[in-house]
Amino acid sequence: MKKSKINFFDYKPIIKTTAENWHDWKWQIKNSLKSENDFSQYFQLSKKELNGFHISKNKFKIQTTPYYASLAQADIPSDPIRLTFMPNEAEGNDGLQQQLDPLGEKKNNPTPRIIHRYPDRALFLVTDTCSLYCRYCTRKHFTATDQASVNKHDYNEALNYLKKTSSIKEVILSGGDPLTLSNAKLEKIIHDLYQIPSIEIIRIGSRIPATLPMRIDNELINIFKKYKPIYFMSHFNHPNEITSYAAEKLELLVDNGVPVFNQMVLLNGVNNHPAIIYALSRRLLYLRVKPYYMFQCDPSRGSDHFRTPVEESQNIQKELWGKASGLAMPNLCLDIPSGGGKAGFTPNFITKIEGNNYHFKGWDGVTEVYKSPTNESSKTPIMYKNYSLEWMKIKFKNKIYHQSSID
Ligand code: SF4
Repeated sequence: MKKSKINFFDYKPIIKTTAENWHDWKWQIKNSLKSENDFSQYFQLSKKELNGFHISKNKFKIQTTPYYASLAQADIPSDPIRLTFMPNEAEGNDGLQQQLDPLGEKKNNPTPRIIHRYPDRALFLVTDTCSLYCRYCTRKHFTATDQASVNKHDYNEALNYLKKTSSIKEVILSGGDPLTLSNAKLEKIIHDLYQIPSIEIIRIGSRIPATLPMRIDNELINIFKKYKPIYFMSHFNHPNEITSYAAEKLELLVDNGVPVFNQMVLLNGVNNHPAIIYALSRRLLYLRVKPYYMFQCDPSRGSDHFRTPVEESQNIQKELWGKASGLAMPNLCLDIPSGGGKAGFTPNFITKIEGNNYHFKGWDGVTEVYKSPTNESSKTPIMYKNYSLEWMKIKFKNKIYHQSSID
């Protein structure tokens, strides 16, 4: 990688092995830390963490790659990276609103592996396996439940649903983590999806650039190049996850025509400070990764200790507004519990509305009036049939409209 203007996080491998092993993603998965005994060889475990191993045993799988464990401090239990993968006794607390399926995905689950909540896009859960299990995971109803990769019946059902639902233009491969599948399996899925005429875009949601960057090999890149457009949705939560290794792989994706967008989760005690979000966003943007979403943590079972007060999340957004460039600014958003969909936040800069005069106070205190044109001055642009028809189908959930109805 070229010399960078930004310092990426330095790490030292926690396991002594050959360089060949360390850079082999399958070796990393095989040698993942899973048990109290595995972790205690490298970490001084606190009482809360030790209790966490017992409490979480039958609740949510414990696992991290040696690479990702190497980003955490061995003797500091409050280390931000460590908090995300180390079980804690707080996972046993009932919390304010805990749900096993906070996104209400089971209500929008027309076939076992498809989640269809929005008209023009759907999630395809291609595996329940991850390279590590984030303690705040929102999909605990599915992730790590040993459903593994899709069986033939469910796979065909998923493809049939996508074929007959032509309003779906984007398919998001998710799980679990799609990049835990082999290149051959992943290529077959991408190939089959792009045979469906109505599917225009495939997105891949993966935490692997942060947790197992060695997985992003040239063979995988060649698949992405062959089946463009592929959009990559990464999941970095903290600047300490952006090592030179991760940076190199993000650049590899972008250099080869794969746009990368980052979705992060605001996590209490991990990243809930504007300075941390700013550092994360600047590093991502430098690598040509767009900071896309900053999610409020969902009330997933055993995750209450990770949730930030909504007011604090909004204050973080407001602090960053104007100081961070628009390109570096992720959208603050929460998922309305039980499947209500995404709801976004934007700081309110309007201080008063008088008729068509909108009074503003800007991010650094400048006050001014914006005189809005009246509604009567609004003109309808020329409506081309194909755009209108496409829009009506999406708006009215794929109901087929006779073209004359919108002529
Ligand atoms: S990588 Fe994603 S799906 Fe897997 S445990 Fe983490 S948040 Fe959940």
